[in-house]
Amino acid sequence: MKAAILNNLDGTFQIEEIEIDEPRDHEVLVEVKASGLCHSDLHFAETDFGVPLPAVLGHELAGVVIAIGPEVREFEIGDHVVGSLIQFCGHCKACQAGRTWQCTRPEQTLRADEGDHPRLCRHGAPVTQVFGTGAFAEKALVHETSLPRFPGNCLSRRLLCSVAARSPGRARQLTPLRSGPATQWP
Ligand SMILES: [Zn+2]
Ligand SMILES: [Zn+2]
Repeated sequence: MKAAILNNLDGTFQIEEIEIDEPRDHEVLVEVKASGLCHSDLHFAETDFGVPLPAVLGHELAGVVIAIGPEVREFEIGDHVVGSLIQFCGHCKACQAGRTWQCTRPEQTLRADEGDHPRLCRHGAPVTQVFGTGAFAEKALVHETSLPRFPGNCLSRRLLCSVAARSPGRARQLTPLRSGPATQWP
């Protein structure tokens, strides 16, 4: 797929072909319809925050689910989703209490840094998926807890992009993942 790659901390992106893996476990593959370009992205494109390069930025995702991992219960193919940069496991004490922003195991939403096949590769070498999202690409492979869902699939590029761009953290807060029936967008 095509992605806008950050190769150097010079504030520029190169459109390149990279490989994206199939979803496994709680991962969801999303066809990206729109992505906000946030000031955080520009900071990451120009400042060394320790993110290994090359990297795919973009955390204000709006798109449609096109494949799901075998453990995914909250989403089906065709669901309309927006992305959130808040990464949380959904099972720790803080998550169970609804304080997902205080998750103690956010790394569980990612694949291991070493010894595991990365979600994104370029010529076989890993590409960093910033905030676990990487929305500056044709597709994004993300953990299901990073995706608030829109009931009724009301995708309109303008609507979803504005929701994602305004407050992805707030969007996730509105639909915290808890055990039990699927949460609904209020
Ligand atoms: Zn942002
Ligand atoms: Zn947690």
